[in-house]
Amino acid sequence: MLFIPIMPELPEVETVVRGLRKGILRRKIAKVVYCAPHLKKMNTRGFARDLMGRNISSIDRIGKNIFINLDDGAFIQVHLRMTGRLIMDNGKGDYDCHDHLILEFVDGKSRLVFRDVRKFGQFVYIPAGRKERFFDELKIGIDALKISAEEFTRILKSKNRMIKPLLLDQSIVAGLGNIYVDEILFKSRVHPQKISSRISARKLSEMHRHMLKTLRSAIDNMGTTFDSFSNVNNEPGNFQSYLQVYANAGNLCPRCGKNKIKKIVVAQRGTHYCPYCQKL
Ligand SMILES: [Zn+2]
Repeated sequence: MLFIPIMPELPEVETVVRGLRKGILRRKIAKVVYCAPHLKKMNTRGFARDLMGRNISSIDRIGKNIFINLDDGAFIQVHLRMTGRLIMDNGKGDYDCHDHLILEFVDGKSRLVFRDVRKFGQFVYIPAGRKERFFDELKIGIDALKISAEEFTRILKSKNRMIKPLLLDQSIVAGLGNIYVDEILFKSRVHPQKISSRISARKLSEMHRHMLKTLRSAIDNMGTTFDSFSNVNNEPGNFQSYLQVYANAGNLCPRCGKNKIKKIVVAQRGTHYCPYCQKL
């Protein structure tokens, strides 16, 4: 098992979003406890004051970004990065030293805690007037669950880059990370270093199908947990037991049974594949 923090990807973030929708939708914010001057890009001026009395109107996700929308058109963007977590609790008990931001709700029975041991996470308040500029600057691609097979094929076919780093690029397709890209490429029988423009349209369309299937199955299993990921109720995911190549280096390939899963480095990322099933 690995013990280095692994960044939550689309299925983990979607699991958090679904938990938030169940737990904090239409709740009114009573108080903001802020103890995180180090949080990246944090807009602190008036932050707590502006949030007080606001209702949570909806919760959205694009790629690995969570958007907590407020009833006045403002919103909070959360990016969990490596070790960030959003946890709902019953509003009782002391805070942890890694609890950087807490939203307390009017009912007094619940609160939302942003906890981040490594402090790389983002919890940013965006007033309604800055919404357009914010999304211009975010430069985010189409969400991996929303991109059509045609669009996916067209974009990847138009690039002359290695397929793995291309799929990891959030400005192209949003939501994929190291674990799911390795799994999707394995299922598609595509070598992680293959140049995207040289992959056939039929193969890319097949890859799109595997991408959707893998992500949906991981969401059904509440994501993958190796160490720190948990849903808003502090429960781990179960998808790690379904991974076929990731963290399986040295084991026999579950498809061909001939070769062992190999681990190499592609674009500075540990990459798992079967040399027999995924030829360059
Ligand atoms: Zn194989």
